[in-house]
Amino acid sequence: MSKIRILSDALASQVAAGEVVERPASVIRELVQNSLDAGARQITVEVQQAGSALIRVSDDGSGMNREDALMCMERHATSKIRTKEDLEAIASFGFRGEALPSIASVSRFRLVTREHEAMVGTEVEIHGGKLLAVREQGCSAGTMIEARALFFNVPARRKFLRSEATEYGHIEQQFVVHALAHPTVAWTLLRDGAVMHHFPASTHGPKERIASWVGAELAGRLLEVPRLEHEGIAVHGFIGGIGVSRSTREMQVTFLNGRPVESPSINYGLREGFQDALMKGQHAVAFLFLQMDPAGYDINVHPAKREVRFREGRSVQQAVARAVAEALRRSQVLPTGIQSRPMRPGVVAAEPSAQVPASAVAEVASASVTAPEIGASPAVSTSQGLVGRADDFLVAEPVLLRPPVALAPSEPAMPLMPEVAAASLGRAVLQGNAALEAQSLRVLGVIHRLFVVLESPRGLVLMDQHAAHERVNFEKMNRALAQGAVATQRLLMPLTLQVTTRDALILEENLETLARLGVELEPFGKGVFKVEALPAFLKVDDPLQWLDQVVEELQSLAGGRGSGTALRLAQESIAKTVCRRSVKANDRLAEAEIAALLRDLFACELPHCCPHGRPTLIEMPMRELEKRFGRLVS
Ligand code: ADP
Ligand code: MG
Repeated sequence: MSKIRILSDALASQVAAGEVVERPASVIRELVQNSLDAGARQITVEVQQAGSALIRVSDDGSGMNREDALMCMERHATSKIRTKEDLEAIASFGFRGEALPSIASVSRFRLVTREHEAMVGTEVEIHGGKLLAVREQGCSAGTMIEARALFFNVPARRKFLRSEATEYGHIEQQFVVHALAHPTVAWTLLRDGAVMHHFPASTHGPKERIASWVGAELAGRLLEVPRLEHEGIAVHGFIGGIGVSRSTREMQVTFLNGRPVESPSINYGLREGFQDALMKGQHAVAFLFLQMDPAGYDINVHPAKREVRFREGRSVQQAVARAVAEALRRSQVLPTGIQSRPMRPGVVAAEPSAQVPASAVAEVASASVTAPEIGASPAVSTSQGLVGRADDFLVAEPVLLRPPVALAPSEPAMPLMPEVAAASLGRAVLQGNAALEAQSLRVLGVIHRLFVVLESPRGLVLMDQHAAHERVNFEKMNRALAQGAVATQRLLMPLTLQVTTRDALILEENLETLARLGVELEPFGKGVFKVEALPAFLKVDDPLQWLDQVVEELQSLAGGRGSGTALRLAQESIAKTVCRRSVKANDRLAEAEIAALLRDLFACELPHCCPHGRPTLIEMPMRELEKRFGRLVS
């Protein structure tokens, strides 16, 4: 007797169910996608005990007649594709005809459905894959599908269900992502009888729903990604602005023609678009909607259709990267550093930048220019303004944590800066960043030799001079690299750098890149390097100590993979490392240096964060100050 046998239909369905139905949330996904495919305008999802007792999805979509209601329970029964060509360009969520029989094989399943024009509907009951009953049933138009006691007949799978909180979390996630992608449909989620979410149908796009999901605070800090088309791929959506990120990918949802998908191409595109605006180990916040011809991808590569394979992955990556980079460039907003204040994603129309020769820029920079009087701020003489503002600022933060006496600045003599109209500097040198052109910043002083205090038309701005320098040096270095090599300063007396064997390995492996970045080292025996040249922009007291820090950081970038095997690192991460601490700690900047730093910073592509993603500028808007001083009751 032969050993190979064809599985019974019931058993085959259970096997398939293992792939399609991992947990209650996957049932929700399949059912709401069916409802969307049926053209529903209203979808209601109900669960009891996080779906293990009951899952019910009702819609007002097309409904089915008696014949189809029976037919749809067969494996590979689908109304959505017919030919091989259809499979190559799938526009619907479903196409495999697998979900309903799979779900019905592992639950007590009930389907009630009626077509809009029909007088009476149909009810089908199936328990563990066995058809129990088919009867006529009076019901509203559309379809209601119930799955009770999920996995009641597959104890091994039931055991794998996690806590109610976890399972419900997945359910909510599935519900929300589909609701985000389909704002014109009204959605309701009920948990054990209580309404958890209700999204009325909206024609205003997904913003409101995103806001109600992520909360007003984060929603206010989202930037709109204006629609951009690249090689037939349209991208739009919302992303977290600079300084907004998460340690998980939870707030990263990408949709392809309305279907939530994951794809390395999209992820790479996001990374690339954010460039260095993300801190190491942090993930972007992003809600991106991609639209393209379904012939350009294959969704049939994952049992749960979570993943997608693009024909032109590179184009998708580029489209996403460009859209994201454009949104970041357009955002004129400074990180506020104040959680309660939403960032304004407004966009100022780009004014063509005036072509001013570099010498003129330098002139503007060194001259003391008085900024035009600024709207909301009271007119004060420089010194009064300075003292008053400094106090404001000191009081503004953790006032309750300090005894009142500590509020008096211990070092009252803050170096006075002549006012610098950064706006006019900006206009002269700015290309990409129209936003900053419109904004004049006035230098008020420096506190603790670290933070430059500025006045903006909207309030108070602080600049971290180190972070700003890092950004400026990093972009200078990148420009120099694009043109050939970074300017170096040769050392008259070469220094000797001594490192451990492990550190020597990583240096040797990256010597070439380091040299291109201006750090010229020559191996000189076991663990010893001769330092021949350093980048010209480097301004540190102790180059050897700085090099030690560079090596340490390279090691941490190599991330433990070191153990004996040398590792070549990406030029970009080495460049960031080289720029780190490339200025003296607590260097007292002369006023002309501050002006130059501001000018250089605003000429950067991404002026608002250092290459490691930390903010360079923080704004405290007048509103916030007024609120804190009790002038404004909010
Ligand atoms: P697929 O979605 O891959 O076609 P399913 O097993 O999910 O496979 O569904 C089988 C068929 O049942 C669908 O092709 C569709 O014709 C019908 N169907 C399922 N759910 C609904 C619904 N909510 N409204 C109308 N028809 C439905
Ligand atoms: Mg389906």
